Amino acid sequence: MRSALLLGRGGRILGVINWQNAIVLAYFRGNGTKVFPLDFHDFEVRSANKSFKVPSVLILTGKADRHPHADRLSLTRQNVFMRDNFECQWCGKRLTVANRTIDHVYPTARNGTNTWRNVVASCVDCNNEKGMMTGPEYEKVSGKRLRRKPFVPGRETMFRGYLDREGYESWEPYLQKAV
Ligand SMILES: [Zn+2]
Repeated sequence: MRSALLLGRGGRILGVINWQNAIVLAYFRGNGTKVFPLDFHDFEVRSANKSFKVPSVLILTGKADRHPHADRLSLTRQNVFMRDNFECQWCGKRLTVANRTIDHVYPTARNGTNTWRNVVASCVDCNNEKGMMTGPEYEKVSGKRLRRKPFVPGRETMFRGYLDREGYESWEPYLQKAV
């Protein structure tokens, strides 16, 4: 399911929120926050007796023009794939739903952390081959090199990532203005 772009006053980009939060903001907001959907995805979400068009771009006005879900790029599988351009960071293969996984450069079983700097997008083959090896060990054994040192992504990274994907055309004018 797709995400929504959240704008603040003057079209400033606040961030990206998931479709659930977009629905809540657009249809069930409270506390004086004013939110207007500017554009919609081409699908709806149905509840028992209602259906909701899923917003693709929202603008937040009024006093609270920050949103807790927008500023933080949470460490999710999807965000890691996005940061790494849907490419295996070990062999460069294009990642699909069927072959993608997350590799901990230093395995958690060997005290690796679950942080942006220790996770990379990987294909299942590389991940299986690497097993319990650390990144440096795997580099020696396999002759492969980690494409890019894993990093904490900035929001621009994400925005660019979204534009490459299908279904996010409606973001383009807003991103061009703001980035
Ligand atoms: Zn690979």
